[in-house]
Parts: sequence; C-alpha cells; structure tokens
Amino acid sequence: MTENILVKNPATGELIEEVKTNTNEEIEQALLKSHESFKTWSSVNAHERSRLLQKWSNLIQKNKESIAKVMTLESGKPIKESLGEVDYATSYIDWYAEEAKRLYGRTVPANTETKRIIITRQPVGPVAAITPWNFPAAMMTRKAAPALAAGCTFVVKPAEETPLTTMKLIELAHQAGIPNDVVQCVNGDGPTIGDIFTNSPYIRKITFTGSTPVGKSLITKSADTMKHVSMELGGHAPVIVAADADIDFAVNQTIASKFRNAGQTCICANRVLVHESIVDEYAQKLATAVRQLKLGNGLKEDTDVGPVINKGGFNKVVSQLEDAVSKGAEVLCGNEFNANQEKGYYFVHPTVLKDVNEEMNIMQEETFGPVIPITTFTELDRAITIANSTPYGLASYFFTNDYRTGVYLHENLNFGIVGWNDGAPSAAHAPFGGMKESGIGREGGTEGIEPYLETKYLSIGNL
Ligand code: NAP
Repeated sequence: MTENILVKNPATGELIEEVKTNTNEEIEQALLKSHESFKTWSSVNAHERSRLLQKWSNLIQKNKESIAKVMTLESGKPIKESLGEVDYATSYIDWYAEEAKRLYGRTVPANTETKRIIITRQPVGPVAAITPWNFPAAMMTRKAAPALAAGCTFVVKPAEETPLTTMKLIELAHQAGIPNDVVQCVNGDGPTIGDIFTNSPYIRKITFTGSTPVGKSLITKSADTMKHVSMELGGHAPVIVAADADIDFAVNQTIASKFRNAGQTCICANRVLVHESIVDEYAQKLATAVRQLKLGNGLKEDTDVGPVINKGGFNKVVSQLEDAVSKGAEVLCGNEFNANQEKGYYFVHPTVLKDVNEEMNIMQEETFGPVIPITTFTELDRAITIANSTPYGLASYFFTNDYRTGVYLHENLNFGIVGWNDGAPSAAHAPFGGMKESGIGREGGTEGIEPYLETKYLSIGNL
C-alpha cells in the first residue's frame, strides 16, 4: 500500500497536512484523461483559452494571502517572498493568456504558380510536468500557462515537500472554468511517477524543473517514445565584481540574489569573484549587511531568511562550510546553525566566507544554502575562466559601469541568463533557461511557448 505524504513545516518540523498519494492506476487514469480531453481543449478557440487563463490568474490573486501562507508553511520561505512568488506565478499566466492569441503561422511564396505553402502551429499534445519545492507556485505556472495557452492538456507532479500550494492552484484553475481533465495534479514519489510519465504513450512532452541528474534520467527515459523535453536544471551562478563597480550597489544586489529562499534557488549568487583592488571594501560591506538579515520562521513579517528545506540540504551546506574552512577560508559572519534533528528543522545563519579558492567544494558544487563564498581575481579573463569552469550554465552576474568591460563579459560568459548590474533578472516576459548541464529550452517570453507547439507545413498543389 502506498503511504500518504506528510507535509511538514521546515521551520518547526510540525505536521501541516497529510496528502493522499495517488496509486499507479490513478496516475495512468489521469494520463488517459489528459489524452482524451486534448482533442476538445486544443479546439477551444485561442481567445477563450486566454479568457480562462486570465480568470485563473485573477482567482489566484484574490486568494493571494492564503496561498502565500500555505507556501511559507510548507517551504519555509519568508512570507514577503511567498507573496512575491504569487505575483511572479500569475505574471506567467497573464503573459501567456496574451500569447495564446498570437500563435501566428505564416505563408511562404511557392516556386510555382500552382502551389501555396502555409505553415501553422499546433499544440504538441498532452504535457506532463514535474516541479521542485523551492518555487511551488511559479515553477508550475511557468509550465502550465504556456501549455494551456498553446492548447495542450497538462498534468503536474509537485515535489513531496510542497504539494499544497500546487494543489490549491490547480483547484483554482478548475474554479476558473478550465476543465478538470485538462489540468490535473497527481501526488507521489518522483521516480515512480517519472517512470509512468515517460513510459506513457499518451504524453507527448515532459517538462521538468529540478536537479541535473534527475533531468538527465528523464531525457534518457523519454527517448523510447521520442517525447519532447524541456529541462530547467541546476545552476552555480558566478558574480563578477569589476574594479570600477559601484560597490554599495553590487553588495545590495549580491544579497538580493543570494538570500532569496535561504539561498535555495537555481540562480542564486554562488561564486563571488571580486577584483583584488576592491575585495576588502566589498567583503566588509557585504558582511556588515548580511549580519543585519533576520533568520527565523517565515511566518514572521520581519524574517529575511528561513530554514533550509530538510536534513539532506542542511548536511550539504554544513559539509561545504567545513571543507572550505579546513582549506583556509575565513568566516566573516555566520557559519552557525540552529538545527534540531528530532523535531526536524534546520537553520543556517547567513554566512560570508573570504579567501575561498577553486579547490574548495563550495566552488565546484551547486550550493543550496545561505552562504556567499568570495574569491579574487586580477585579470578579467581569469575571472571569466573561473566563472565558466562549471558544467552548469544557468545564470551569471557582473557589476561594472564600463561598457567595454560589460560587453566583453556578456559575450564571454557561457550562461543562458546574464545580469549586468542586476541581481534579479527573472521576468515572465524574458526567456529563462540554461546552457550546458543547466538544461534544454527556455521558459518565459515569446520563447517559452515554443516548446509546446509543433510546426505543421501544408503544401496545396494543382491550383
Ligand atoms: P530534485 O530532487 O530533482 O526534485 C525535483 C522534482 O523531481 C521533485 O518533484 C521530485 O519528486 C522529482 N523527482 C525526484 N527524483 C525523480 C526521478 N528519478 N524521476 C522523476 N522525478 C523525480 O530536485 P530538488 O533537489 O528537489 O530541487 C532543487 C534543484 O532544482 C536544484 O538543482 C535547482 O537548481 C533546481 N532548480 C532549477 C530551476 C531552473 O529553473 N533551472 C528552478 C528551481 C530549481 P519528489 O519530491 O517525490 O522527490
């Protein structure tokens, strides 16, 4: 018998709710419904799909406070960030409600008078999504909104830590009038559901946000049925602070990038490279500001940094810190913990490390916690080499007011997202996604609906 999911508050370890795990048969049934409802949903006209999406977005906004509270309870993120995530989540629905009406085809001049060539766009088919715990609302709407706008049906499996936010959003989609079989949520264990999704003859596309190893296995398993895949995977973002940078601004933006969701985002500032001429001033200002951040339960309005999600996440951060300190890193602030394994909560005090080098694990592995490691460079090319020396290629940041330095950095950093004097580049109207092992495809912007569409070419002859 399958066990239910016990959703717990990572700030206290307390049980919030027990969620029913779907049986394999129920999940297969959901995929069949997705397949059967595709024909009707894909033929609903684009303006109607747009109207329903807009209604969904409005309903989410109406319930913003209660959704944000659930999100904070299950993910631990500060309530102000949860409120921000609800806005971020609906911004994708708003954007794709508009894009639904702009899925243009084109005509191509033929090479004979007796032919016409017309190119149209069609929805790819039923879509299955798997999402992570760190953005339980936005990672889902970033997939569901373009899929539904394109005319695809949609089934999502949220992370076991945070199913409640996703379930609430799906319930509101139904209230908005999107048919129950068109958008569905199933719950259970990742590997099992991943196998059912990838083996299914009904699913035409898998869209995943999560870790790189799981993304790779989903791609492999999707090959047999040649499913379309979109992968939003891990990151290890560098931040380059050039000698001429506005130091106060760079400090402010590094903090904005790093401490969101207690450092548990795929685009968090993970490796800070500062020009040696300014490193002391930058590090001292950064540590002073980081000491002011309030660590605590996300439900308190003044909390800036919540707990890390679970024991596994906590152990990884602690081991990266131990490794860095044992190899000579200087702790400017933090490196302290408030964890209770029995109760099940794990807090890491916001930490700044100086004198970090490339031999340390924290520079090599994705960091998922509130820790900033600082290293130095003298030549810009050296900073670029270090920044690019990772299998990841999601986000990167640099701070400079010199336009030649800026253009050079932009052109030489191998990352899908580049923030120039900007620590918070994500937006529904821009393509989010990574190069190399950070993924395949983009979410957001006009690019974000493309993966949900097939191109069909019609050639009319004998005219
Ligand atoms: P994860 O272990 O890959 O889990 C993410 C989702 O995948 C969960 O729903 C999980 O289900 C499911 N899953 C786990 N193993 C699976 C398998 N073998 N087959 C199919 N599904 C499986 O990732 P995480 O550690 O929770 O999330 C953090 C990662 O996500 C980081 O690497 C982060 O950088 C990345 N991320 C990327 C983006 C982006 O846009 N690029 C955004 C946010 C996060 P269970 O809960 O049941 O295990």
